[in-house]
Amino acid sequence: MKRVAILGGGPAGAFAAEQLASAGLCVQLFDEKLAWEKPCGGGLTYKAYSQYPFLLENSTPKRFITETVLGAPRGGEVTLHLSDPLVIYARFDLNRLLLERAVQAGAQLEKARVMGIEPGGSGWRLRTSGGAAEADFCIVATGARNPLRDFGTQLQPQDTMSALGYYVPGEQARIDIQFLPRLEGYIWVFPRCGHLSVGICGKGEPAALLRQRLERYMEERSIPRKDATFYSHLLPSLDTGSWRRNRVAGEGWMAVGDAAGLVDPITGEGLYYAIRSADLAARTLLSEAAAPADKAAAYRRLLRRDFMADLEFGSRLAKTVFLGSFLLSSVPARMVQFTRRSPRFAAVMQDLFAGRQPYLGLKRRLLKNLNGSLYDIAVSFGLRKLLPRSADLRPAP
Ligand SMILES: Cc1cc2nc3c(=O)[nH]c(=O)nc-3n(C[C@H](O)[C@H](O)[C@H](O)COP(=O)(O)OP(=O)(O)OC[C@H]3O[C@@H](n4cnc5c(N)ncnc54)[C@H](O)[C@@H]3O)c2cc1C
Repeated sequence: MKRVAILGGGPAGAFAAEQLASAGLCVQLFDEKLAWEKPCGGGLTYKAYSQYPFLLENSTPKRFITETVLGAPRGGEVTLHLSDPLVIYARFDLNRLLLERAVQAGAQLEKARVMGIEPGGSGWRLRTSGGAAEADFCIVATGARNPLRDFGTQLQPQDTMSALGYYVPGEQARIDIQFLPRLEGYIWVFPRCGHLSVGICGKGEPAALLRQRLERYMEERSIPRKDATFYSHLLPSLDTGSWRRNRVAGEGWMAVGDAAGLVDPITGEGLYYAIRSADLAARTLLSEAAAPADKAAAYRRLLRRDFMADLEFGSRLAKTVFLGSFLLSSVPARMVQFTRRSPRFAAVMQDLFAGRQPYLGLKRRLLKNLNGSLYDIAVSFGLRKLLPRSADLRPAP
C-alpha cells in the first residue's frame, strides 16, 4: 500500500498525514479550506500535550490557563486551580501548525473539496473540486459535518450537540464554566490570545434557545456582543447505544476525529481524540500484524482499548452529571459546593479537567473518597468537634 488520500485537514487529518508521510507513504491531503478558524474553544488538556509534547514545544501563540471558575444555579461559584494548565490555541493557528508538520514530513496538500469517493483502480477514485485522484487507502477526516454519507459515523439527532458562541475582543486570565438549569451542556468563556471564545453547547435543545441562554449570560456578565463574531457548529456527542454500532472503518478506509464521532460526550473535548485516533489509524495502517482485509477490525479494537470504551461510559454518565440530583440538590450545584469545601473532591475535579481521571473508575474513586469529602465539608463548616472519631471519617493519607 503506497498512496493514501486524507480527506479533511483539521487536527485529525493533518496528524494522520504527518504520521503516514514520515513513515514513507505517498500522502495526499485534501481540504476545502486548509488552515481556518474552525468554531472551537481551542482548549487542549494535559492528556493531549503530555502524550504529544509538540503541542507545547512550538512557537505558535497560545495561552496557558491555570484557573477555572465553575458556577451552577444554586451552587454559587468556586475557583478551581489547575495543577496542569489548559493550553488554548486559536484554531487557525493550531490547524496551521499541524498542516505545516504534515508538509515537513512529506505530505502533499491540495486545497480542494472532496465531492465523492468510489472503489476503482487498485483502491479508490476521488472526485474533487480540483479534478480527480486515485489512492490505495482513504482516511476520512472531514469532521462533524462529514458530507461523505457512506463513510464514517452516521450521526443521528440524539448523537449531536449544538455548539455556538462569539469571539469577543477582550482579555481575562481564567476560564469560566457555567452550568445551567435543565441543560445537558454548559457555557464556557475561554481566553485566547487577543480575544475570548464565549460559547454554549447543549444536547436536545434547539440552537436558537441555546443562543438566547448564552446572550442572557453575556448580558448578565457585561460581556459585549458589539464587535463580536458569531460562530456555530455541530459537536458529536454519541448516545450510549450509538457507540457499539459506530461505523469507524470499512474495507480500504478508516475514519478519524469528529468524522468518527470521537468526542467526549460530557466535556465536548475532541482535539485530543482527533489526534489520538489519527495516531491509532496510522499505526494500524503501517502495522504488518494485520492483513489489509483485517485493518478495519484491528483499528476498531485499538480505539476501543485506548479510549472508546471510556467515552461510551462517559455517555452513560452525561445525563446524571448535567441533569441528575444528589443529596436533595442538582449534581452541578453539588459539584461546585463540594469543590469549594473539600480539597479531596477538588483534586478529583482537577484530574477530570486534566484528563488524568477516566470516567471508568470515577464512580469508584468518588465513593472511596465520599467519607473523606464529607469530612472535609464538615470541617469547612467548623464541625470537626461534632464528628465521631471514626477512622472512616478521617482523611486518608
Ligand atoms: C463550538 C465548539 C467548541 C469546541 N471546543 C473544544 C475545545 O475547547 N477543546 C477540544 O478538545 N475540542 C473542542 N471542540 C471539538 C473540536 O473542535 C473537534 O473535535 C475537532 O476540531 C475535531 O477535529 P477533526 O480534524 O476531526 O475535524 P475538523 O476540525 O472539523 O476538521 C475537518 C476538516 O475537514 C474539512 N472538510 C470537510 N469536508 C470536506 C470535504 N468534503 N472536502 C475537503 N475537506 C473537507 C474541513 O474544511 C475541516 O478543515 C469544540 C467544538 C465546537 C463545535
